[in-house]
Amino acid sequence: MSEIIGSPSKYGLDNHSLSNSGTVYWGLRAPALVELISQRGEGQLSEYGAVVVETGDHTGRAPNDKFIVREGASSDQIWWGEVNREFEPAAFELLHSQVLDYLNERELFVQDAAAGASERYRAPIRVVSENAWHALFARNLFLRLPEAEAASQIPKYTILHAPNFKADPEIHGTNSEVFIVVNFERGIILIGGSRYAGEIKKSIFTVMNYELPLQGVLSMHCSANQSESGEVALFFGLSGTGKTTLSSDPARDLIGDDEHGWSDEGVFNFEGGCYAKTIRLSPEYEPIIWNATEKFGTVLENVIMDHVSREIDFDDGKLTQNTRAAYPLEAVEKRVPSGMGGHPNNVFFLTADAFGVLPPISRLSPDQAMYYFLSGYTSKLAGTEKGLGDEPQATFSACFGEPFLPLHPSKYAELLGERIAKHKSAVWLVNTGWTGGTFGVGERINLPFTRAMVTSALDGSLAEVPTRTDEIFGIEVPVRCSGVPDEVLDPQATWADKEAYVTQAKSLAASFGENFAKYEEYVTGSVVAAGPAK
Ligand code: ATP
Ligand code: MN
Repeated sequence: MSEIIGSPSKYGLDNHSLSNSGTVYWGLRAPALVELISQRGEGQLSEYGAVVVETGDHTGRAPNDKFIVREGASSDQIWWGEVNREFEPAAFELLHSQVLDYLNERELFVQDAAAGASERYRAPIRVVSENAWHALFARNLFLRLPEAEAASQIPKYTILHAPNFKADPEIHGTNSEVFIVVNFERGIILIGGSRYAGEIKKSIFTVMNYELPLQGVLSMHCSANQSESGEVALFFGLSGTGKTTLSSDPARDLIGDDEHGWSDEGVFNFEGGCYAKTIRLSPEYEPIIWNATEKFGTVLENVIMDHVSREIDFDDGKLTQNTRAAYPLEAVEKRVPSGMGGHPNNVFFLTADAFGVLPPISRLSPDQAMYYFLSGYTSKLAGTEKGLGDEPQATFSACFGEPFLPLHPSKYAELLGERIAKHKSAVWLVNTGWTGGTFGVGERINLPFTRAMVTSALDGSLAEVPTRTDEIFGIEVPVRCSGVPDEVLDPQATWADKEAYVTQAKSLAASFGENFAKYEEYVTGSVVAAGPAK
């Protein structure tokens, strides 16, 4: 029998067919984990006591290596295809047993936690990892439970995390050495071949995106915050569009950073922490995130540090542009401790348009909201995924989170449409990307301008301003906004070459149309008509 250090659960590891002989570190908090990370050489302390770790080859998610086991009743629900690749039950058995054998030969770190601040929709989860730092990541990111609760819950989903176990595609039926295999029927997630911690977090997001819509609750890839009087705002957007940045607002209380549910009672965070991008982080523009990176126990992933002075250099992207800080919500002073809020008054769709043609803020009608939600447009630059070059690319990712959707996008869109109609939420499209020209010619819009636009939308002043209808996109663009020069609000005015603007905007409009064809059968004609001019 193995030695257990910490507070073991009544629900033992034998329930997972684990019978390892090494030490099991169970439910450890940050101080003990930090010491173990240091002793085991997994990472080093920064001058402020954050833990700096490196992930090696894989510094972003690996969407092509994610699979769903085709098994049981869940297989009828799943939206099979590029996003949800099938994995055969027999292949799962083999990989599962080899991952168990692998973990049985190692010291293990177990964290019992939960996803979903609303008790009614909470999923008990367990993470079993070979690394102390991944246990600290899981502890920072997921909901931390009182010790007695953690010790008595039975996990609905268990992640078996073996980042140093490399799969062999020939033997295991994977695409590469990396695998994220989700088995909904058995509540097991196998992760291997990659140390990138985002895989842990986003695999739980995937299961929440499966569980909740089946219970009539919308799950969303968005951040959320609220005003002191409790008015809630949501910020949807793909990676790098500003969910974390814009929800970290010194004037508002943070509900959550990245994943939320919207039930009949209101919105709730799935998580207990934040996973913020830190490349070129500045204390001036992003003070909340900056402060969190100086907290003891924060995990700094692939961030560059001087190993002698232990000073951090957030400007150095030599390992990746996708450097990250993972910290518990307690690192954010202004937050909503319950993780729950009311129905949103304002919903922002964030897009980082690298072509520089979408207005920096515009108001969407309910039909336009459905259209832009299903489209999920942004541009991808070198970022959180493997295999992206330096050139921008238009990407459409349904519901601003396609890689994490086990069900067809129309399921989520339907739930969103019902909710924004019922609660009369205002929907805004915010371009946090380029202005004055495409990527390379123009520049990224000033963060203080974007914040000023969001603030004016939130305080109601933007709704009072006259608008113009954008000729190509058909969306309503405010002509003034406090704290923002007028010409910034009109993208064409920021381009030196006005004709080039029209060409570029029409080309993007055409891409929208091509992409939307696959959703036309799922929506009303008025939603199809709400798209950009053809
Ligand atoms: P992920 O889903 O990967 O966590 P995210 O949507 O949370 O992504 P952020 O972490 O907020 O994205 O990243 C936005 C990045 O863009 C930050 O590094 C921020 O400093 C930078 N940025 C630059 N200009 C702007 C702007 N105008 N608005 C928002 N973010 C901006
Ligand atoms: Mn984020």
